[in-house]
Amino acid sequence: MTTPVPASLWHFLSREVALVCDASGTLTWMDERAARLLEAVPGQSLRALAAQGTEDKVDRLITLARDERVERWEAILCVGGVPRTFAFRGAPHEGSVALVGSLVPEDYADSLSQVSETMSELAALHRETERQQRELKRRADELTRLNRDLEESNRGVRTLHAELDEKTESLVRAAEIKSRVVANVSHEFRTPLHSILGLARLLLNPANGALSAEQQKQVQFIRSSGEALFELVNNLLDLSKMESGKATLRPVRFSASDFLGALRGMIRPLVLADSRVELRFEEPPADLALETDEAKVSQVLRNLMSNALKFTEKGHVTVSAERGPEDTVCFRVSDTGIGIAPEHQTHIFEEFTQVESPLQKRVKGTGLGLALSRRLAEFLGGSLTVQSAPGRGSTFTFTLPRVHPEVEEMLGMAERSQQLEPGRAPVLVLEDDRQTLFLYEKYLSRSGFQVLPVRTVDEARRTLQRVRPAAVVMDVMLEGETSWSFLSELKGNEATCDIPILVVTLMDREQKARALGADEFWLKPVGEEQLLRKLAEMARSGPVHKLLIIDDDDVHRYLLRQLLKDTPYVLSEAATGPEGIQLAREQLPDLIFLDFVLPDMTAFDVLDELKTDPRTRDIPVIIHTSHQLQEEERRRLEKGTSTILAKHKLSREVAITRIRDALHKTGLGTDAGESRRG
Ligand code: ADP
Repeated sequence: MTTPVPASLWHFLSREVALVCDASGTLTWMDERAARLLEAVPGQSLRALAAQGTEDKVDRLITLARDERVERWEAILCVGGVPRTFAFRGAPHEGSVALVGSLVPEDYADSLSQVSETMSELAALHRETERQQRELKRRADELTRLNRDLEESNRGVRTLHAELDEKTESLVRAAEIKSRVVANVSHEFRTPLHSILGLARLLLNPANGALSAEQQKQVQFIRSSGEALFELVNNLLDLSKMESGKATLRPVRFSASDFLGALRGMIRPLVLADSRVELRFEEPPADLALETDEAKVSQVLRNLMSNALKFTEKGHVTVSAERGPEDTVCFRVSDTGIGIAPEHQTHIFEEFTQVESPLQKRVKGTGLGLALSRRLAEFLGGSLTVQSAPGRGSTFTFTLPRVHPEVEEMLGMAERSQQLEPGRAPVLVLEDDRQTLFLYEKYLSRSGFQVLPVRTVDEARRTLQRVRPAAVVMDVMLEGETSWSFLSELKGNEATCDIPILVVTLMDREQKARALGADEFWLKPVGEEQLLRKLAEMARSGPVHKLLIIDDDDVHRYLLRQLLKDTPYVLSEAATGPEGIQLAREQLPDLIFLDFVLPDMTAFDVLDELKTDPRTRDIPVIIHTSHQLQEEERRRLEKGTSTILAKHKLSREVAITRIRDALHKTGLGTDAGESRRG
């Protein structure tokens, strides 16, 4: 905190005043203090400042100091209307008189009283400052205490967090164990259940010998109990798949109309001949087509319809499909059945929940159907809701994106991979899990690599026909197949054996992977930085070559680009000589295609520039020309370049062979696989 020094103290501290007068005693200049203390202004006569009756002393001072130096000349001037004695020193100064006056000691009494006044003001200030300091200290203490409290509660929160983390972890572990146990047990159940059901069916077949009426009834019971158990096991298995994130999406394109038609065929047998319930299907818009997992959509709707039929004794069950907002499709299953009270409407979606009712006792059910249906709906990016009132029937609405978001992303990804981007090295990624594919694409989208995503070995083979990747990232545990043989196929084939392969999978099969030729083996999950670093390292040893085309003709550049499409060469282009030289220095291409006739520089100039720079000196250059070269030109060019290529003779084969030859000469060339296609 700062306190202003009182004005009176300034008066005291600044005892000297400086003045300049002309020969007649008129003030021509004064310092700031003089102006303030004496309230003097230039043009005023010094005499006017003198205390009444002492004007002569001032006149005398001027007269004396005009000619010589004057010391300790006392004059009384008015300071704020009060006479004060000043001791002046004076001297002539360029025709004027310069004066410096200081208050003489007699006036100190007055000044002292001012000083003591000032001192008491200062003391008061000091006391105030001290008070403020005390207050500040009190506040600082309070803050320290608060801080301590905060730290303590922070520690508490941290401990709580750690406990929560631990609990979450053990819950996650428990959930994992649960779904693993459920999945295993369910699998184990299915085989004996199959046998029981098969045997029951055999027993019931009259061709295998007649049963007594009682026996037949008993076997019927075995069969229906077996079927109920089978449904339970299947539902449990599906649920555990959903929970463990192992469910896979198998999207197909299908029309809503065909879909409902097929559904009708499946459900109709469930409606008994003597039923008082009518099954109605509303015709959906003819052009409504979906692209999602049809089997899962069907599973949800079959469930809803079977419930609707179970809980409706008379009236109708209606199924419809229509367009919803934001490119969604709304399936509705409504019935005129017993309905569901509001308090049960959330619980029915929980596992093993059934609503007590006389009807409930008569129908079969596991209490898993709706839980599973909601999970399925969410898996498809949609939702499942109910509107119902007891006695008035229920309407279940299943809304889902018309095109599954992953399908859209996948399409985008596949499209992006169709077009090879110059300047980015293609990486073939064989991975059946879409999420992982997306992740890889996201990681690599910010790098110098371009993902070519494939989900099956067949697709991978097809892509390899088209492109030679800088590296392959592959999972070996694909759904429905393994890709071990593909790995050995790649490594066993002369054309592909030098493509570096990174195997990334869920189980530790490193030995096998390495034995089959994998260059690297990793367990999932893979981090972005780790992947990029490895790919950069692997691709460096790989055969991707950077080519620079320097040609002012757009058409020729385009042609060359087309000819070299889907080769391992990554192209960059320059339309002028200087631009080309600059790109060559920046990118250090493995080879340069140089047009002989450039508008701004001759090919000789460009070559000279390239040869004088140690960075670009050894880059092989293919001269590309539509010109009939003079013998002299040809000889000169041949010295600095690898090949001279006539534009009109250029074909894919010729281009690739020349490039390969040129690269071979520099020791860069491997048989980059073009021969397979060329
Ligand atoms: P369940 O195998 O018992 O049908 P669900 O999870 O499919 O199991 O359904 C849970 C419960 O929700 C059913 O037991 C029933 O009580 C109630 N419910 C489901 N659908 C309907 C419906 N359309 N009308 C009335 N109640 C229904």
